[in-house]
Amino acid sequence: FDAIIIGAGLGGLLSAAHLLQRGKRVVVVERLPHSGGRFTAKNFHGVQVSTGAVHMVPFGSSGVLSHMLRRLNVPHRLYDADVFGSFHVHGRQYRSRGLLGVAQFLGPRQFFWFIRLGYLMFFRQLPPEERRLPFDLWLERHINVERNPQLVAFFASISRFALSLELNQVSTAEVVRTTKNMFRFGAPAIVEGGCGEITHQLEKLVETYNGEIMLSTEVLSIVQEQGSVSGVRIKNKATGEEQSLQASLVVSDIGPRATNGLLQHRRIKQADVLKQKYAEDHTANVTASDDVQEAVGLKVHILSDVSLIPHKGIMYCLDTKRIAGMVQPTNSDPSLAPAGKHLLISHQVIQSNNVEEERGLALADLRSMFGETFDKHCQILTMGTYRGEWPVNRVAQGEDVQPQLDVQGLYLVGDAVKPSGYLMVEGVAQSVNNFLDLLDD
Ligand code: FAD
Repeated sequence: FDAIIIGAGLGGLLSAAHLLQRGKRVVVVERLPHSGGRFTAKNFHGVQVSTGAVHMVPFGSSGVLSHMLRRLNVPHRLYDADVFGSFHVHGRQYRSRGLLGVAQFLGPRQFFWFIRLGYLMFFRQLPPEERRLPFDLWLERHINVERNPQLVAFFASISRFALSLELNQVSTAEVVRTTKNMFRFGAPAIVEGGCGEITHQLEKLVETYNGEIMLSTEVLSIVQEQGSVSGVRIKNKATGEEQSLQASLVVSDIGPRATNGLLQHRRIKQADVLKQKYAEDHTANVTASDDVQEAVGLKVHILSDVSLIPHKGIMYCLDTKRIAGMVQPTNSDPSLAPAGKHLLISHQVIQSNNVEEERGLALADLRSMFGETFDKHCQILTMGTYRGEWPVNRVAQGEDVQPQLDVQGLYLVGDAVKPSGYLMVEGVAQSVNNFLDLLDD
């Protein structure tokens, strides 16, 4: 082979598709029995229940991922949000067509400060001393946070939903760059057929170009000779058979922690990561150790008889204890759930080690937002946590690592190497663009 890709997640499949189009012989090695990683779904009672993503592409049909898919000729359809969003606050939902619609729930005084913050973020150069400042401290510097609770909650819920981070975990520069990109590219979109449709089409493209995808096969180690990569050692999980694959280019879609483990012939196991991370009293989702800082979350899939969100965008939740936002993807593609039913997905940052408590708080939030309707018309399908080696973001936004490792011919792609300002799968796609640029250098 010319190239070995470790992991058939979105980053791995996009890398494989590009290398195949350049005439390279490529093999993708995936330890699970299916491709797609955290960007695919399984059919559960007629519902597309995703392995990660809420079926959403952050910058929609004008974004980096969609542009890349068009360039690769990957069929896909995205339904861009028809509103900026809605905001659940003061016991009701305020729908906001454009950004200025937030005036409805902020009221004149907080809206004045909203406009002022907008000016400071977008119409003047951010002073160097403010760039690294955590965003909560930046807010404290410019507004009276006690007198502007909904304004603070507005920023907090967007950060929790889009980045899976609290405001004290993200720098002001990163918030500004990410928000600028949201305006530059456009509204988020729901994928027709669900997020798995994109990775499925990419899988088909890889096969069309005679690329090989080895499923249920785990990479055990990355082999290097005199500072250059020379291949990998793999194990077929069904037969237990081990073998070596050779290539002078290895692209890893599994993040720096697991990649470094493979370089040291060490398998990183989810149970060990969680044990190490949560043994101590970490009340936040980022560890104090020198390990990579991932972003963690809890997601609930809900099936409802009645529609709870009247648009294709995100409903941000401002006076909840945990849930930061929700989407109703069936508003864009009804086939994601059985006929007449609505699929809703909520997302929150996990703020403590106590998963049972986090789940309880999610349920309490759903009841407080939707009252009796929730108990009468809604059914919880799944409630899952995303952390360790299966997190929301392998590296927290703004803390991403470099794509090139010390070993020649070994590169990282995926959500550990998102360029600044590019969130989630837009960051994954942009990481692949960066990797291709490095290859061309
Ligand atoms: P992965 O999808 O993790 O792919 C890595 C692959 O490598 C996996 O398939 C894994 O099984 C495989 N692998 C690992 N180790 C080995 C090994 N040793 N050998 C072989 N294979 C191996 N993004 C959005 O844009 N929109 C959203 O709506 C959204 N919502 C999200 C909600 C949640 C709850 C979560 C968890 C994530 C969400 N994301 C969202 C983020 C998005 O899912 C990820 O950014 C993206 O899927 C990451 O893709 P990747 O290719 O970098 O990694």
